[in-house]
Amino acid sequence: MSSLSDVEWIFVVLIVLYFLESLVWVRPGVSVFASRRGSFRNRKPAMRLTGNDRGQLMLGGLAPTDMTLLCHEMPVSITGEGVVAFVPMSPINNERPHRSGDSFRWPELADCRSNERDVIAGGRTVCHMNNAAIARRFAEQLSSLARMPENERAEKIERFREAMYDVQEIRDRVEDLSKQTRWIRPLASMLLIWIGPIGALLYYGILPVSRDAPTTVAYLVMLFLLWWGVAAFIFSAHRRLFREDRTGRFKLVACSLLSPAVPLRSIDYLSRELLATDLYHPLAVSAAIDSSEQFRSVAERTMRDIEHPIAPEMPNTESAAPPGTTTNEDINAIVMDSRASDWDLITKLLSDSKIPFEELLAAPAPDDDASMEYCPRCHQQFEIENAACDQCGGRETLPLRV
Ligand SMILES: [Zn+2]
Repeated sequence: MSSLSDVEWIFVVLIVLYFLESLVWVRPGVSVFASRRGSFRNRKPAMRLTGNDRGQLMLGGLAPTDMTLLCHEMPVSITGEGVVAFVPMSPINNERPHRSGDSFRWPELADCRSNERDVIAGGRTVCHMNNAAIARRFAEQLSSLARMPENERAEKIERFREAMYDVQEIRDRVEDLSKQTRWIRPLASMLLIWIGPIGALLYYGILPVSRDAPTTVAYLVMLFLLWWGVAAFIFSAHRRLFREDRTGRFKLVACSLLSPAVPLRSIDYLSRELLATDLYHPLAVSAAIDSSEQFRSVAERTMRDIEHPIAPEMPNTESAAPPGTTTNEDINAIVMDSRASDWDLITKLLSDSKIPFEELLAAPAPDDDASMEYCPRCHQQFEIENAACDQCGGRETLPLRV
């Protein structure tokens, strides 16, 4: 039985490490935007490998120049009246994250704090976030809103919500990432070619050079120059992009010096961190990075989802309202008002882009003569009347022909 040589084993380990560095674990409530061949203009949805209700394992782009933006959506409904741990919408993901439906009046949120990824107020969990940094930041934002005078709060909440739709801010960040990684892109690509094809051609004697000690030394010198050169640029890019995150920088550079797979995937790593500590609406991310056709497709999904969210549209409030504090009507009012504010900002974004939102809600053309009804959220078609769409929580369907 043939067995691999030591050098061949190194190749295999490097391929496995490279592949592992290309995987991303995405928690519920986070949308993924993965580039293809280093550009978002021709992006396709990231490939889902496996997953459960705690997250999904996704494969983003495989080139050293590929980027993956992670967009953390608003995890709660929020108005001047209070916060409800429930959001009916799930704009571009097929499933909606599970939320407790608990309600919080503003005075209860004054001592809001984070514990790892959880945001907690008065001993109850407000929400789970994608990482500890965004949990800490969101807890601070809720606590700061809770402590301000009541007459200023509604205005501040709207500013907070508007910031989630700040297309220019996202565009600026992506451009900054592109600028700070301009040297990493060619050098990481060269490193990949040097380790992969050139290394293999040399090792198997296909290149017309002698496989003696000077050649090996020259190969290794060039390898380490490229490898640790990229690591130096990673340090510089990280410092410019995430000045405060010294621990993250130390870990990234230490890993880069130890494994060449890390510098090869460093642009992807930096891009995942780019939007990681703020909340954004996926439509705003799409407006910042996508082509007009892709933006229209995201706009369609967003509009259908906000108009006809996954059922049920309201939280199960049987045990959500603590006695004497909040009624179910109050909870439903907070969820509906918060959704209405999002609706206003989404339609404003669409009118800025000159897309009439009514067009996005139009019924699909029937697949065939037997199609009678359709799901207004996912556009699945049904051959029976009064069907319920299982993909959208049993949502009622609508007639295709009226
Ligand atoms: Zn559906």
